[in-house]
Amino acid sequence: MAAPPLAHYYNYRNPLYNNLTPKSMRIDIITVIPQLIEGFLQESILGRAQRKGLCEIHLHNLRDWAVRRDRRVDDYPYGGFAGMVMQCEPIDRCISTLLAQRHYDHVIFTTPDGEQFSQPMANELSLCENIIILCGHYKGIDYRIREHLITKEVSIGDYVLTGGELAAAVMADAIVRIIPGAIGDEQSALSDSFQDNLLAAPVYTRPADYRGWRVPDVLLSGHEARIKEWELAASLERTRRLRPDLLQGQ
Ligand code: SAM
Repeated sequence: MAAPPLAHYYNYRNPLYNNLTPKSMRIDIITVIPQLIEGFLQESILGRAQRKGLCEIHLHNLRDWAVRRDRRVDDYPYGGFAGMVMQCEPIDRCISTLLAQRHYDHVIFTTPDGEQFSQPMANELSLCENIIILCGHYKGIDYRIREHLITKEVSIGDYVLTGGELAAAVMADAIVRIIPGAIGDEQSALSDSFQDNLLAAPVYTRPADYRGWRVPDVLLSGHEARIKEWELAASLERTRRLRPDLLQGQ
């Protein structure tokens, strides 16, 4: 899938480029262990974006929706298989309550057999106003929830994690950092890897000479056009060498 140009998303959301007042994005994450990612969501760019009012991230403890007095939300699987399965009712109660409060663009389930998360998907999702991310645990969730309530299933890679919390954190980070204003210098996100199907060019900082390891002369020249040319050439060279698949079909 070709990466949609990020500039388009910036223009869509950025009031500097149009007359729309962009709404703050809202992400609701449902999990049985919110404390796994609570801290992560409050730090760095994610934390700053929330404090700036660019997005809201709400963590919901699924146990608050449990129907059993012991607050358990899992049960033995039909068929006698190994492991425990997350029950329908607590998940349904939580998701239905959120759906009754506002429109959601997507109800996402994190799962290893879902569509692979990618920069194009992060770009698309960063345009949404409201999304729910449901984290599985144990053996997974009762399949009927996937059939009836989930609109998108997403995997962060071909391996199995203990729960969907890390996947939700990965997705929230990749989505929120490209909302205009989340990163100090918006151009920085535009030149990151996978935007325009290229890997990023190498970056350097002071000193210009460290133990004889020199920064490329062109970067010290102050010549903007030549620096841009170097950046593109370096990006292309690294992409051809390390990820030629990204250039196929271009
Ligand atoms: N039995 C499931 C299977 O084989 O597909 C794996 C269950 S896993 C132990 C528990 C939960 O972790 C999953 O329901 C899912 O929410 C999450 N998870 C695990 N690996 C993941 C991945 N690669 N991407 C996204 N979520 C993942």
